[in-house]
Amino acid sequence: MLLVENLVKNYGSHEALKGISFHVEEGQIVGLLGQNGAGKSTTMNIITGYLSATSGQVWIHGINSLEKPKEAKRYLGYLPEQPPLYENMTVREYLQFAGELKGLKKREARQEAETVMGQTNLSERENVLIKQLSKGFKQRVGLAQALVGKPPLLILDEPMVGLDPNQIIEMREQIRSLGGTHTVILSSHILSEIESVCDHIIILDDGKVKAEDETKQLSEENSNHKRLRLVVKGDKKEIHKILRETDFIKEFSLIGEVETDVYEFQVISAREEDIRDALFMQFAKRQMIVYSVNVEQLSLEEVFIKLTGKEESK
Ligand code: ATP
Repeated sequence: MLLVENLVKNYGSHEALKGISFHVEEGQIVGLLGQNGAGKSTTMNIITGYLSATSGQVWIHGINSLEKPKEAKRYLGYLPEQPPLYENMTVREYLQFAGELKGLKKREARQEAETVMGQTNLSERENVLIKQLSKGFKQRVGLAQALVGKPPLLILDEPMVGLDPNQIIEMREQIRSLGGTHTVILSSHILSEIESVCDHIIILDDGKVKAEDETKQLSEENSNHKRLRLVVKGDKKEIHKILRETDFIKEFSLIGEVETDVYEFQVISAREEDIRDALFMQFAKRQMIVYSVNVEQLSLEEVFIKLTGKEESK
């Protein structure tokens, strides 16, 4: 659905994008995650054709969007960080107008406005002037405008910024429900927003892609195979003895008794390779039961810090 190849953007002597490449498949909800200034808006503005690239390529639905921007734009809907809303129009007037700007005939635009107001729960506000709407409703109008014309690809720049907690929950649900019928790319500098909505994540840092993967995979890949959690049933002293005598264990510590005679340990491996099978066998040989042995997972926040060396910005 979207292929971005080696995008470079210089603002004067400042290199905002330093060769960004990634791809997004149909139906995915992808989060562009990065601190302020990482290059999220610049990337989105180039994909949507609002900004030219210094070099690189963007393909939308197989169309080279830098060479044929008009054609490519038919496949995308864009919610910029500050949507250009006409404050003196009513919701309905504005959405109809947006349809006409996208090349729809008057009747089609009217019909389309109706449809997108239904999709974004705006029907009750259809005759309200945009300037009289709350921030949350204005954001919905921005989203509705992006949906006009049923574009398969939606690009949403910081869609949750400035919303209150209830409005954030509504917006999240709205985006998740769009996931079934659209491919969605949204940007955010807030990990929890991305984690709760997106099934794929692209981490941008200082104009470069630091990681790109399924949300789940990212923490798995970046987890340390040397740190394990072991839950085993048996006599505490005997478990300690086995762990002490096992040569591929560097260190271990008891976390606690999770049930009667069931103990949880943190184990640090002395080897690079995965020791889970061998550890299991150490206990099985002595007829002791291992309930679980897992590699310790990093949270998305820990992964972000590990990859970028920075804390999440609030
Ligand atoms: P934010 O969430 O703050 O918008 P971002 O990740 O979207 O951050 P961009 O807005 O893409 O980041 O900016 C990337 C870098 O390019 C930043 O260092 C920014 O200062 C710089 N930049 C952005 N727009 C311009 C411009 N028009 N002229 C000069 N530098 C710019």
